[in-house]
Amino acid sequence: MTNDPTCVRVRFAPSPTGMLHLGGARTAIYNWAFARSQGGTFILRIEDTDPERSTEENTQIILRAMRWLGLDWDEGPEVGGASGPYFQTERASTYAAALEELKAKGAAYPCFCTKERLDACRAEAECEQGGYAGYDGLCRSVSADEAAARISAGEPHVWRLRVPEGHGPIEFDDAVYGHMSFPADVMDDLILVRSDGSPTYNFAVVCDDANMGITHVIRGDDHLSNTPRQILIYEALGMEVPTFAHLPMILGPDGKKLSKRHGATNVEDYRDRGFVSDAMVNYLALLGWSLDGETTVISRDVLASEFSLDRISKKDAVFDEEKLAWLDGVYIREMDAGKWLDVAAPWLAYAHHLGDAAPAGASVASSASKDEQKARLEALIAPWEEVAPESWQGLLADVADRRAWHARIHPLIVERQTTFNELPDKLAYLFWGPRVVLDEKSVSKVLLKEGGRADEALRICREVLADESIPWEAEPLQEACRAKGEAAEIKPKLLFQPLRVAICGNQVSPPLFESIELMPREDVLARIDAVVAKVLS
Ligand code: GLU
Repeated sequence: MTNDPTCVRVRFAPSPTGMLHLGGARTAIYNWAFARSQGGTFILRIEDTDPERSTEENTQIILRAMRWLGLDWDEGPEVGGASGPYFQTERASTYAAALEELKAKGAAYPCFCTKERLDACRAEAECEQGGYAGYDGLCRSVSADEAAARISAGEPHVWRLRVPEGHGPIEFDDAVYGHMSFPADVMDDLILVRSDGSPTYNFAVVCDDANMGITHVIRGDDHLSNTPRQILIYEALGMEVPTFAHLPMILGPDGKKLSKRHGATNVEDYRDRGFVSDAMVNYLALLGWSLDGETTVISRDVLASEFSLDRISKKDAVFDEEKLAWLDGVYIREMDAGKWLDVAAPWLAYAHHLGDAAPAGASVASSASKDEQKARLEALIAPWEEVAPESWQGLLADVADRRAWHARIHPLIVERQTTFNELPDKLAYLFWGPRVVLDEKSVSKVLLKEGGRADEALRICREVLADESIPWEAEPLQEACRAKGEAAEIKPKLLFQPLRVAICGNQVSPPLFESIELMPREDVLARIDAVVAKVLS
């Protein structure tokens, strides 16, 4: 396949040795956005040649994370394509064919050096000035006949690239870093195929990129030192060298390379913590690229039409979770009820699960301090994993079946949330039915408040809420309560706060009467009765 620069073909090539981390996700986003903006093809290739560390489970996790991010691939696992297969383990015959070609050209030779010899060379060189400069080329001079005889005698060997003598510097124009030049005489004869017949990373990646007609290799700059070696392989194969674009690193706030030490680094951790995937894509896209140097909210569509390699920065980017959280809030507030509900569904199902788990009648739960609250939120990570699969399906089905009712929750909460995993905790009260779980602090501060008139307030409100002649809607209910409270000379705050605690369990909650409107009358009355019986009598 020849490279037609007018027809962009890019690939994201993760190794399934772990989950999709943030750096990998950014690389995937840039490849995807570049393909989309150029009307090109985005290929997903799984580099599973490391048998010890690659797992099918990790592959599935990576595909799932890609789908969650909305990065659809045109060729790759599950979708197929003309340049497949898309798993390196299924491409062994292509590497074997490439090796045969190099052998035929005299560009690859077998190396019989033992590990002991190579280790000794390295140790010796490291004691000398200048250090180890790579393989010394001993087996270059083994004659073809001798090599053939040793191979047929079963002597273990690897295959190395014969770097042409007198090769000038290896140069290329990186789309991010500009002109790069590496002296060829420091490149040793790199291994292409190991003694077990498996291809090395550099060899497999070049064979694949060449055979798949990749025009642009966009990847992390941790691969920059591999690039001159890969260029030597392209040259040996007589294949066109693609354009390279190496991406700057992503650092943690402390200026060190982003790692587990900085907290969550897996994409799915962010999904499980309730972040919106559009916000995630937007935020990761900005770690090293900018639209115009100032716009921060960039939709997927704009990214897919405006992305360009020339606006990728050379400077390392800093991952700042606070900025991500801010952007997440922006995306949440922009959602209409339908879109919100699509994302909120599993979290509402979990709120429902928590609601079902509330004890009968009125119960008191100890107030959580800020830290405890945070810990509780963290414990809600991937909440669906702790619900039995069959009941989980039932809860999700309920959200889908009663979409109109669930969509009415949207205006109650949308201004108050920054991530979706806050919803179960904040909304469980909507799903308690006739039960109520009272926050301990709210009980003492509101229901048992000195000089308060909680029992009277609840009695007044109960009368209104039991009156079937008043429409079951927030405004008329609230107005009727207010009028009755005024007649009894109870200030609105002293009237409504006890009701809020009795219905929502907490002195802080989403709008009270809008919540009441969403619940059946008998549940609302039952909660008031349970609170009066438990706390006020
Ligand atoms: N499989 C390599 C990695 O996960 C990527 C190789 C490349 O992009 O050239 O680091």
